[in-house]
Amino acid sequence: MNPDSFFVTFFSRTARAGLLAATLLTLQHSARAAGGGSAAEPPVINPGPVGGPPSDAIVLFDGTDLSKWQSAKGGAAGWTVEDGVLTVKAGSGDILTKEEFGDVQVHVEWASPAEVKGDGQGRGNSGVYFEGRYEIQVLDSYNNKTYFNGQASAFYLHSAPLVNACRKPGEWQSYDIVFHPAKPGADGKIQPGSFTVFHNGVLVQDHIPVQGDATTSAKFSGAAATGPLMLQDHSCPVRYRNIWLRRL
Ligand code: MG
Repeated sequence: MNPDSFFVTFFSRTARAGLLAATLLTLQHSARAAGGGSAAEPPVINPGPVGGPPSDAIVLFDGTDLSKWQSAKGGAAGWTVEDGVLTVKAGSGDILTKEEFGDVQVHVEWASPAEVKGDGQGRGNSGVYFEGRYEIQVLDSYNNKTYFNGQASAFYLHSAPLVNACRKPGEWQSYDIVFHPAKPGADGKIQPGSFTVFHNGVLVQDHIPVQGDATTSAKFSGAAATGPLMLQDHSCPVRYRNIWLRRL
């Protein structure tokens, strides 16, 4: 091989190898994008401490005040804020957010009273209502029998939890909930939404359909794209802290 033809062959092969590598990279990238992920780079957020709130969350209660809330009866929310904790004030009524939300991820921490009073639905009852319509039950379900679809972390009267992951009375517990609302479709039919719920980190509701019928004691009825988050006054001094959500 003369030197000229050697260099022609060498550079030609190098160029072809480069082209091949570039093509493979492009194909690999396209395959990733086509494989279900977005082609756009996901935004960077700060997840915050364990239990959040992440940097892109809307903080609904950080321990200081109820400025994001109002009474379901009208006017200011009447529950008690003390030492960074929100406590249900019996008889003052449910409280709901001033802002409305649709598809959300919600984090709520709650504790039933350390002093056990009553039984069944009368022990440590409250609730987290999505769109003021659909209740994820808050109840002291530690050694406290009730109907299964009415115990803690049940989608009230619709779906019992997969397991009872309740902590003891007085101990802090967490709910992490992904909610998609039932929406009125263009054809007039309801398009079901869903609940996925983790109780103390344990999966208890796995993509359960939300068909649009409000649970008992709901503030509103009828399927809607958005609504306020509501916490229930069921006359029990249940405590709350660290409440935040992310719009999805
Ligand atoms: Mg309740």
